[in-house]
Amino acid sequence: MRSSGELTAELHAIDGKGYGAYKSIAGGYDFDEFTLHIDYVQGDPFASPSRLRAEFAPAVARLPAELLHPRIRRIAAADYLNRRLHAELASISRARGTGKSGRVRILRPGQAILERTSLEIDAAGHITARFTAGLPARGRRVLGRQAVEMLTGDIPAALRRALAPATRDLEALRRQALLAEDSATLRGQLDERGLVAFIPRGAILPRRSGVDDRPLAESEAVIFQPPPRLTVTLEAPHRGPVEGMGIPRGITLIVGGGYHGKSTLLRAIECGVYEHIEGDGRELAVTVPRAVKVRAEDGRAITSVDISNFITDLPRGEDTAHFTTANASGSTSQAAAIAEALEVGATCLLVDEDTSATNFMIRDARMQALIADADEPITPFIDRARQLYGDLGVSTVLVVGGAGDYFDVADTVIGMRRYLPEDLTAAARDVAARFRTDRRHEGGPWTPIRQRRLEPASIDARKGRKPVSIKVQTATRVLFGTEDLDLGALEQIVEEGQVRAIGQAMVHAAERWLDGRRTLRAALESLMKEIREGGLGVIDSRQVGDYAEFRIYELAAALGRLRSLRARPSD
Ligand code: ADP
Ligand code: MG
Repeated sequence: MRSSGELTAELHAIDGKGYGAYKSIAGGYDFDEFTLHIDYVQGDPFASPSRLRAEFAPAVARLPAELLHPRIRRIAAADYLNRRLHAELASISRARGTGKSGRVRILRPGQAILERTSLEIDAAGHITARFTAGLPARGRRVLGRQAVEMLTGDIPAALRRALAPATRDLEALRRQALLAEDSATLRGQLDERGLVAFIPRGAILPRRSGVDDRPLAESEAVIFQPPPRLTVTLEAPHRGPVEGMGIPRGITLIVGGGYHGKSTLLRAIECGVYEHIEGDGRELAVTVPRAVKVRAEDGRAITSVDISNFITDLPRGEDTAHFTTANASGSTSQAAAIAEALEVGATCLLVDEDTSATNFMIRDARMQALIADADEPITPFIDRARQLYGDLGVSTVLVVGGAGDYFDVADTVIGMRRYLPEDLTAAARDVAARFRTDRRHEGGPWTPIRQRRLEPASIDARKGRKPVSIKVQTATRVLFGTEDLDLGALEQIVEEGQVRAIGQAMVHAAERWLDGRRTLRAALESLMKEIREGGLGVIDSRQVGDYAEFRIYELAAALGRLRSLRARPSD
């Protein structure tokens, strides 16, 4: 390991030389409190920026032992430090020459507390920060003096301000660690209480806007209050009893007039699979980890998915037990989304009428009378929801504003009125008894979803002969090799870092786990286990700080959307 003085000397020595001279600074440098590693040096000022890593040894980091165990505290503490470092690096990032010269950036956390490769704390209290920097140049000439200022002055100062013990806000760090542990513990209690989700009294569910995920100002928001019959009390280890609305297993409808807060409640349930930072408004709102939002997405590709429980006898005779299309309809896409989620183990489906295909959700008595069964390929969700729960134990939470036929199949009905929930279960039952719909139940027994085996060669992020290339275009679109993959319909992806990680995990899955013999589920479960044991960094050996934790459901769904995908059904 070289000294920081040697880095200064080297940068002065290459001042004014061609950009390629920067290659000589790759390696590690001792900065007393930490070591700075230049893991990758970019090829020119416009290329992907250089990758840097700072390591703080436990004796220097001096993180209190209580922040290190259990693992959830460590992840929350790392998330907290990531936020601090993000702010500090943003404050020193500025143009220092051509292209990306002088730009310093680290993954930016959103409202969720996630494991990220940008900032990791290991069980011994060792801190690793990974970020990128554009090495300064004018045209293709090295700007040595600016590089000295950035690499040996501004960046080390920012690292010290964010991560060194003297400047850390230990109380805030501790609060976030214990909050995350409380939240995760509440989630762990859902199963034994027979619940799929929990929203605490006092929660703030609405967001500032469709593009701003922070909470609506308290003065503008209606604060969440649980209705009496659905009120439950869970027990958090640090803050004690927490009262709120428990959503039971089974089939739950969220009903109410337009604009009364139905989708906002469902959104909070979708996001409850993650922990949230203090002040989010949804901290302590938790959902079972295997809950998956499903929606219609016409135009998507589907590869060999078993949608036969929902769709059979298509006019052209396609095999819907191994359904493949390059251009799904609303109903086939929604059927595929459900089948794909179940294939990898979902136990709770989250559905919003706003983003569903009407003919997938319901076929009413009049339509049944007009169109013969033989001419209708779709068995609507309303006729499968009870089987899903009874036969498979899969619950559904469903927003409906229009389709009252669903009262017949609901276990719980929550009405949203002026943004507050009320228990309408008895009232809806009464209505269902008084207004019979005369609709006939459709469809036979549920048949188990067929498992697929993916062909690893069909998951290829190379561009022809060029190496693997995964480029995140927008928050939800990724260029995977030559393919433009849109993950916008995977609504439980909440951060760009998850999209990057999923793209990389697809490559890793194809190389390591999808061997053509294992089922998709077995392969992805192995991969998730590898990540749990080895950390998120196992998906990439190159010290990349761009990745945020993701779930098996979004990974499977991303693979399922690849247009190049080929699959074999298992026998
Ligand atoms: P719905 O699905 O019932 O039509 P939404 O959930 O989309 O209604 O909510 C409609 C609007 O009301 C949105 O702009 C949302 O942000 C806002 N809103 C939702 N819940 C609340 C609340 N508790 N307090 C204030 N505004 C809210
Ligand atoms: Mg809505």
